[in-house]
Amino acid sequence: MSTASLSLVFPKPSAFSQNQSWFQARPRNKTISTIIRAQSGPLKEDVIIVGAGIAGLATAVSLHRLGVRSLVLEQAESLRTGGTSLTLFKNGWRVLDAIGVGNDLRTQFTEIQGMVVKSEDGRELRTFKFKDEDESQEVRAVERRILLETLANQLPPDAVRFSSKLTNIGRSENGETVLGLVDGTQLYGKIVIGCDGIRSPIAKWMGFPDPKYVGHCAFRGLGFYPDGQPFEPKVNYVYGRGVRAGYVPVSPTKVYWFICFNSPSPGPKVTDPSILKKQAKELVRHWPLDLQNIIDITPDDTINRTPLVDRWLWPAVSPPASSGTVVLVGDAWHPMTPNLGQGACCALEDAVVLSRKLANAIKSQPASIEVALNSYGTERWPRIFPLTIRANLVGSVLQWENPVVCSVRNNIIIPKLVSLGPLLEHTNFDCEPL
Ligand SMILES: Cc1cc2nc3c(=O)[nH]c(=O)nc-3n(C[C@H](O)[C@H](O)[C@H](O)COP(=O)(O)OP(=O)(O)OC[C@H]3O[C@@H](n4cnc5c(N)ncnc54)[C@H](O)[C@@H]3O)c2cc1C
Repeated sequence: MSTASLSLVFPKPSAFSQNQSWFQARPRNKTISTIIRAQSGPLKEDVIIVGAGIAGLATAVSLHRLGVRSLVLEQAESLRTGGTSLTLFKNGWRVLDAIGVGNDLRTQFTEIQGMVVKSEDGRELRTFKFKDEDESQEVRAVERRILLETLANQLPPDAVRFSSKLTNIGRSENGETVLGLVDGTQLYGKIVIGCDGIRSPIAKWMGFPDPKYVGHCAFRGLGFYPDGQPFEPKVNYVYGRGVRAGYVPVSPTKVYWFICFNSPSPGPKVTDPSILKKQAKELVRHWPLDLQNIIDITPDDTINRTPLVDRWLWPAVSPPASSGTVVLVGDAWHPMTPNLGQGACCALEDAVVLSRKLANAIKSQPASIEVALNSYGTERWPRIFPLTIRANLVGSVLQWENPVVCSVRNNIIIPKLVSLGPLLEHTNFDCEPL
């Protein structure tokens, strides 16, 4: 979406219905229409979430569990059905447990015991067991599609409005937020939660710069083995020069793989799966055959190539996470590179922290909503900012190209100096059930 399409000027909305409740009037899992259609004029809603990705759905489910209803607007016609997997560490699982879907997901995905790091010639550089480093660690690669469906299933059937691309955002004279959708619909929201991902139009409207390309791209795919996949429950990493790859079992029949490669620019968008496969295989053509084989059996709709980006939230320079009653969650606020596997985990953390604060503010004093949103930003920033930088630096080290430097990394740093425990300390996150 171009900045030019964002308009700040909207007609003055009529006042919100005074008798419209913030809270669910009916028990969970019953159909509740959350849109109040005025006699004539725009749609009105107390809490509008833009984006039905992980952040948006996790926020909607968290609020729902706390008795606050919301309407989720999603630009796509349905939940994302293709796509690959996300590795979730124990902080992600704490949140999924807190919102009541952890056990449902656990039964579908393999628990990963540890990791093996190899050089491009197949030499094993180091192995780690997660539980040796931290008894409470929990690692599983979860299919994005199933995670989204599981979250969406917790919501009333009409809680997500599809084909609802946000094209305009503005503030009315009364202070409400006015959202314009691609089909011409206008919605007025008392609270707007921007979960609209790395290219968030809401973040742009709030003054955030575009995320920055970090100099490498990633191929990803999900290999499918109908007769059962052959790998041990470990993450396998292969570190080359300017290229690194990995694969990890997801379930008894699926294996997630990725290849990160240096590229001075993101390059043209390629969607043809046969070209993507060819390009990916070319990068690792002299590497151990496992990777080539997984790529070969990857269904077309699960392979993609993504330029990696992030945005550093510099203190006193970056806008805060909220402006009035508009707030950002997940990648919309803090896009980070996937080198620590923390983007989705942090989006889940954001969702519960924000929802708790928001629900408390609504229950106690609607006037304190802006304070609650501010407090969310203040609490989450010290968690998010260092992680974004750390993920970026880890990526830079892993993408080194210089042969001497890579040799030091592979023969000294990884075998002798790296300790997994401190490296995964960022996965500590306490979260009570909602
Ligand atoms: C290569 C790669 C590997 C990764 N691996 C991991 C990993 O292993 N572990 C991990 O924790 N994280 C990982 N991540 C990060 C993770 O994918 C993101 O952090 C996560 O998807 C963020 O979720 P989100 O809901 O904030 O954004 P998204 O998932 O991008 O969702 C945004 C939603 O908003 C919708 N939307 C956008 N614009 C509009 C609009 N104008 N109107 C309406 N709807 C809109 C989109 O359609 C989408 O549904 C990885 C990322 C990459 C790129």
